[in-house]
Amino acid sequence: MTTIDERSTDTIAVENPRTGQIIAHLPALSRQQVMDAFAHARRAQRQWARTPVEQRVKIVMRLHDLVLAKQAEIVDIIQSETGKNRASAFDEILDVVVTARHYGKKAPKLLSRSRAKGALPVLTKTRVDHAPIGVVGIIAPWNYPLTLTLSDAIPALLAGNAVIVKPDPKTPLSAIESEKIAREAGLPEGLYTILTGHADVVGQTIVHNSDYLMFTGSTKTGRILGTQAGERLIGYSAELGGKNPMIIARDADIDRAVRGTIDGCFSNSGQLCVSVERIFVHRAVAQRYTEKLVQAVEALTIGGGGWEENIGSLISAEHADRVMDFVDDAVRKGARMLTGGRRPDLGPAFVAPIVLVDVPEDAHMYREEVFGPVVYIETVDDEDQALAKANDSEYGLNASIFASPRRGWELAQQVEAGTVNINEGFAAAFGSVDAPMGGWKSSGLGRRHSDYGLLKYTQARTIAQQRLVPVSGPKGMDKHTYAQVLSTVLRWGKRVL
Ligand code: ADP
Repeated sequence: MTTIDERSTDTIAVENPRTGQIIAHLPALSRQQVMDAFAHARRAQRQWARTPVEQRVKIVMRLHDLVLAKQAEIVDIIQSETGKNRASAFDEILDVVVTARHYGKKAPKLLSRSRAKGALPVLTKTRVDHAPIGVVGIIAPWNYPLTLTLSDAIPALLAGNAVIVKPDPKTPLSAIESEKIAREAGLPEGLYTILTGHADVVGQTIVHNSDYLMFTGSTKTGRILGTQAGERLIGYSAELGGKNPMIIARDADIDRAVRGTIDGCFSNSGQLCVSVERIFVHRAVAQRYTEKLVQAVEALTIGGGGWEENIGSLISAEHADRVMDFVDDAVRKGARMLTGGRRPDLGPAFVAPIVLVDVPEDAHMYREEVFGPVVYIETVDDEDQALAKANDSEYGLNASIFASPRRGWELAQQVEAGTVNINEGFAAAFGSVDAPMGGWKSSGLGRRHSDYGLLKYTQARTIAQQRLVPVSGPKGMDKHTYAQVLSTVLRWGKRVL
């Protein structure tokens, strides 16, 4: 936030992961500076809450147009701080635009006063309002620095809230750019504010001052923030870790499954919460599938940075080391690496995509999230076994099934996950923004996308007007008679209402 930059003493350094070079120094804001931003946001929000929804929609639609028009510059910024390939950076543009359009069109109806059945038929007129909550805090990770700040902010803003975002210290530049574009689209100052700095100062001050908290990140941090939100009795939505399975059924189209595996496992170099890390393939097709997959993985291009690049850099050399530690541990315990594992000499954080088999259950990566370009294949005797293994996880974020459509739907209904894709890795379900997206079990709480993804940023206010007769009964009627009248109404109501 430029207006308070000069008062900060500490800084964070932003690195380009492809080169290891520092590309920006930004202020690490103090607690007081964050508090000032909240005071400012609260003032702006009071006015914004009175702004008609149609006016808010206009601004969000201008934002939609601006993001599309400026996509090349934004993609450059995303790539500069994440090192990801251009196609994965473009996915962020797509997500913001689709989200803006979806909620822009839906917000007026979702936020309009709705009718509800009254306590007493005819005599009670009941309506429901959805008021803004106030200031929404968003704490974002580094893997999708535009999407996981701006796309989550759009429904909150449309609902009449102000939003304060703490981007990950590794990737604040895309978020800062999104703040500029939102201002250019006409969003009044103070409504969408990016605060840079450290988790323990900026992050914690946001947790302690926001009226609703939206978090995307690790399950470990998600639990801590959930506890804090619970203490403060504020709403909380969290999209956390995953160990997402893919099932390749006996009747799968193998070429399609191979393409889906590449997309599902190696988009954004596997640094994606919905990315696939476990594959359970039917014995009848295992060999054919595995051979074709290895061939396809070996044909992927690494580096270059343009549209032709399939595999970009990981976020940092430390993260690449961490990914390789998981792989080394599995190999030490008996796993076989079918392909990948090199660290190409293109920069400090490149890893050639890895496919493993025979990963033993005691290897860390068997159950823990790796968050890199790594997947293991396990052969199963039938789809029931695949399902049992797929569901045998503390996580339940996303799943993917390659099968005939009929078999795919049968299997999908038995998967314990927030999103299940048939004949696609993750993009079909994630891209269906009209449907909920989020995790079962330790993968999260609440949902983004769908009506819920906007209504969660509102407070429901039920207004009920009682007509003619009080709910406690007409004047002069004794309690026993009234109880009998009510009983008759209830009996009748069960059939009619
Ligand atoms: P990762 O392991 O991918 O870095 P984290 O869950 O640690 O994921 O971080 C996701 C986001 O949450 C980052 O912006 C990080 O700075 C922030 N964060 C981490 N710990 C806390 C905390 N205790 N309070 C507030 N924000 C935090």
